Amino acid sequence: MKVIVVGAGIVGAACAFHAVSAGLDVTVLDRGPVGAGTTSRGEGNILLSDKEPGPELELARLSRALWDEAGEELGSASLEWEAKGGLVVAASPEALTALHAFAERQTAAGVRAVRVDRPADLEPHSAPGLAGGVHYPQDAQVQPVLAAAALLRAAVRGGARLHTGEAAAAVTGAGGRITGVRTADGTVLAADAVVNAAGTWGGEVGRRLGAPVEILPRRGFVLVTEPLPPMIRHKVYSADYVANVAADGAGLETSCVVEGTRAGTILIGASRERVGFDTTMNPAVVAVLAAQACRLFPFLRGVHLIRAYRGFRPYCPDHLPVVGPDPRVSGVLHACGHEGAGIGLAPGTGALITAHLLGRPWRGADPAAHTGLLPDRFLTTGGVPT
Ligand SMILES: Cc1cc2nc3c(=O)[nH]c(=O)nc-3n(C[C@H](O)[C@H](O)[C@H](O)COP(=O)(O)OP(=O)(O)OC[C@H]3O[C@@H](n4cnc5c(N)ncnc54)[C@H](O)[C@@H]3O)c2cc1C
Repeated sequence: MKVIVVGAGIVGAACAFHAVSAGLDVTVLDRGPVGAGTTSRGEGNILLSDKEPGPELELARLSRALWDEAGEELGSASLEWEAKGGLVVAASPEALTALHAFAERQTAAGVRAVRVDRPADLEPHSAPGLAGGVHYPQDAQVQPVLAAAALLRAAVRGGARLHTGEAAAAVTGAGGRITGVRTADGTVLAADAVVNAAGTWGGEVGRRLGAPVEILPRRGFVLVTEPLPPMIRHKVYSADYVANVAADGAGLETSCVVEGTRAGTILIGASRERVGFDTTMNPAVVAVLAAQACRLFPFLRGVHLIRAYRGFRPYCPDHLPVVGPDPRVSGVLHACGHEGAGIGLAPGTGALITAHLLGRPWRGADPAAHTGLLPDRFLTTGGVPT
């Protein structure tokens, strides 16, 4: 089976990696370099801690296991893999009660979550007076661009081809089945299946393939400090982060997320706002994020920021990725719309797409267990596509 994957971000790379491992003939197409889309704009957290029980958590649990396998196969250093664990902290007794209730539901769904009475026991430099927290030992971290490159290198070693140049349009044959993709320079690449892994541009690519999906940009800023000796051991964030992620409004949401990196810099996130593809730097958002981080780790008040960057999360209106075959055009599969979790969810998505292509489970990914992510959920609710 010939498969074209459109998009060489972390999700396209994971799709190529798994499809090649399954023996499929894979070509990856991107209009730019590997990992240059949103994959180069995030923080690289692999989280179970922020996910409600449901379809996204199930994909995250599958992905977490597959990240372990990828680390063993590719070498954890090539991914900058760190199984550092996450610590969610609550500032008030009310927030702590809500956090405990959330963690209990997650535990029932198979997530390891341990109550922490004194966050300072795990994070000695955290603010005094926090009401408590929950430790999530399964949370981890990768360097996203390195991870995408490592997955794609392995796919190419296994026989995949990598092309740059924009995917212009689908080429369809009898019965509306997709038979290939025409690139910007007019070349037609034959295919039995095309995977839309174009991230935030998945809506546009879906339209070109005759199968539109509603993916919108959700802007986020990340601040980077000067390199420091290790001060922060886990990914640490405040309990209100989960509510911010799930919010539906277009307005600005900020909640404090802080973590160290191998290079010594500390990453501070994360804002969320729907302002289209507006790349303007917003000093007010930077100031809010910095102030929240200083409340959580007071030592940061004396630390310099060296830069801030932003990216556009691929946002789907129901906050779930779109993964699986499109019922409208035979041969088109979507693997996009992962919002702020695409790094974490990539291996599970790649395995699930491969399972759909094979028509049988692949590496623990059983399409029957992930029906909540299928594109046809929009067609039955009448919400999207337009
Ligand atoms: C501030 C911020 C923080 C984040 N933090 C995290 C985090 O900690 N953990 C996490 O899991 N996620 C995080 N994310 C989200 C994560 O970065 C994304 O979900 C993920 O990168 C999406 O990967 P992708 O491969 O789907 O998309 P992309 O990386 O955007 O890749 C899509 C590719 O498609 C290509 N493309 C587009 N159109 C075409 C076309 N017509 N033809 C050919 N190619 C095309 C693009 O060039 C691009 O390379 C964060 C995002 C932001 C913005």
